[in-house]
Amino acid sequence: MSQQAAPLISVVVPCYNEEGSIGTLYQRLRETLQRYDVQGTEIVLVDDGSNDNTWQSISALCNKDKDVIGLRLSRNFGHQVALTCGIENCRGQRVLIIDADLQDPPELLHDMMTKMDAGYDVVYGHRIERKGESFFKRASAWAFYRFLNKLSEVPIPKDVGDFRLMSRRTVDALKQMPERVRFTRGMVSWLGFRQVALDYIRSPRFAGKSHYSVHAMLKLATAGLTSFSTQPLRFALWLGIGLTFISGVILFGILLDWLLTGRDDMFVAMIGFFLLFQGIQWIILGIIGSYIGIILRETKIRPLYLLDDHLNKK
Ligand code: UDP
Ligand code: MG
Repeated sequence: MSQQAAPLISVVVPCYNEEGSIGTLYQRLRETLQRYDVQGTEIVLVDDGSNDNTWQSISALCNKDKDVIGLRLSRNFGHQVALTCGIENCRGQRVLIIDADLQDPPELLHDMMTKMDAGYDVVYGHRIERKGESFFKRASAWAFYRFLNKLSEVPIPKDVGDFRLMSRRTVDALKQMPERVRFTRGMVSWLGFRQVALDYIRSPRFAGKSHYSVHAMLKLATAGLTSFSTQPLRFALWLGIGLTFISGVILFGILLDWLLTGRDDMFVAMIGFFLLFQGIQWIILGIIGSYIGIILRETKIRPLYLLDDHLNKK
């Protein structure tokens, strides 16, 4: 394939200590990609600072197959950054993002291509079953996706990872989002365009073990929540308004009691004032939170909008 022509398909794979999977992954990808070979394909393997033989395997593949692109990060930057590196360095008109451990079947590409031919920009894999994963992982993921969906400003599909086929224009749009805290699956939802789910059963890992520790999962979940919702910041405001309201009812009751019966219950009055001051403080925190929310939005420097179409462009 010539240097200039963009291949039809790029497959982007973040790899961290995946020496046991890379060989089989390559074989299955090559078999899957065969039918598109005439239009050009490339496999972009990003080594995210592995400390096993992942890079040796990638270099060997690059030597034997010129359409394998090997990228090696200087250290372990994490899944989302490795993924971003792959996306920035691929050229395909369509880009498939897939994990190295074969939990996502490469063969699903065919169905994804068919859906994209029908006019979709993003075809994302929707896990209807997760095999070989612990109860804790499945339960926490289940709860997280539902919670995130409730809070998020854009609908982020539930039970969906980064396994997806994206059109060139969505990849280019994604590249315009320079945020450092990255939650790719949410960012792609934010882009809009036409997106559709493809159901699949997630297999157990082919080799090795998951690199997502509880800590890494929490980090990703926090990235998802804080990048796509400012609702938690507003919580303080609602709490403050609630407390102030309760204190208002108590103080009004005390005042009425005093006016009608001449009784003054100082203890209850003190509770009322205490709640009032607490309420005011929470409201002020909520106001500060709203400003922080705006700062958060501004610092992401996301494009203000993306165009789907532009007719009669001059
Ligand atoms: N990965 C990565 N850097 C990391 C951790 C993971 O590039 O720091 C890659 C990993 O090799 C795999 C994908 O990201 O291709 C998903 O990771 P993993 O399978 O460990 O996550 P899980 O499927 O358990 O959520
Ligand atoms: Mg995995």
